[in-house]
Amino acid sequence: MTLFDLNLDDLENFIESLGEKKYRAKQIFLSLYKDRVTSYDEMTTLKKEFRDLLKEKLPFPTLELVNRQVSTDTTEKFLFRLSDNNLIETVLMPHDYGYSLCVSSQVGCPMACSFCASGAFGFKRNLETYEMVKQVLDVEKYSNKKISSVVIMGIGEPFLNYDNVIKFIRIINNDFGIAIGARHITLSTSGILPKFKDFEKEKFQVNLAISLHASNNELRNKLMPVNKKYPLEDLIDAIKTYIENTNRRVTIEYILLDGINDLDTNAKELAKLLRGLNVYVNLIPYNETSNNDYKRSKRTNIFFDLLKKEGLNVTVRKEHGHDIDAACGQLRGKMIKGE
Ligand code: SF4
Repeated sequence: MTLFDLNLDDLENFIESLGEKKYRAKQIFLSLYKDRVTSYDEMTTLKKEFRDLLKEKLPFPTLELVNRQVSTDTTEKFLFRLSDNNLIETVLMPHDYGYSLCVSSQVGCPMACSFCASGAFGFKRNLETYEMVKQVLDVEKYSNKKISSVVIMGIGEPFLNYDNVIKFIRIINNDFGIAIGARHITLSTSGILPKFKDFEKEKFQVNLAISLHASNNELRNKLMPVNKKYPLEDLIDAIKTYIENTNRRVTIEYILLDGINDLDTNAKELAKLLRGLNVYVNLIPYNETSNNDYKRSKRTNIFFDLLKKEGLNVTVRKEHGHDIDAACGQLRGKMIKGE
């Protein structure tokens, strides 16, 4: 456990267990997340003896920046080395409304989606909460930009690292922390159904996005092995229940792959699956990688029009960083392969 693994309540309990006053936790939180101190020594509101005790009991961790690519559209891609030498990727994207950060939740990913560069290198381990919090803090430090929204959509399946991800959300959402509004945080899952209920119970205003990417079971089984365990009809039922119980709109992500899932029949099937649900569909142009043969669809506009005609809310995701290793996991993959 490190300093950046604790939300404010945890830190208050920890500080009290050391025999200090609870309000010190708030001071520490403000130093970390508002003043952005980089060591205990900079927390001059605390007595030196107390700082020394904290140094001994609660490590102040760092991530090592090993690569940073900046795109012509100002998208930035960061590669960080963790204390056990594993590598993770984080992407900063410019929008009209500010900057969003795409955070990784695992080292590698066990879900093995066939189109994904992240899945191609297997799964190593879950990220600790601090390794997610530090992605946000360090990208702000290196880029000198203020992040206004966070998407947990990078490498990994966040629902398989549930507790650490939830703690991460609480820390970045806390008013004394980084204070990113819940409505500006999005968690994206490939559909680990048992976790939907848990997430619902958090009573967050956090957005839920589902990586759907296919319009029938046969296709989804091929693209996303998770579908063999949690098939499409069960996933749609879970989405429906989630919407009914939370009254929140869900985002459906659909990567368009040439000749695979971008046909008229796919659009019709997708519309049938989603009809009547409070969802909006985000169509994502595919970033080709050398790890597979999938190609970018040439029918994005046609597919968009078909879904519109079927009455769905649909958008096409704006592309970011096309001139750098834009596909999620590509930069990390290159480093692993030694390219
Ligand atoms: S698409 Fe997402 S869930 Fe699938 S392998 Fe890639 S990172 Fe994992």
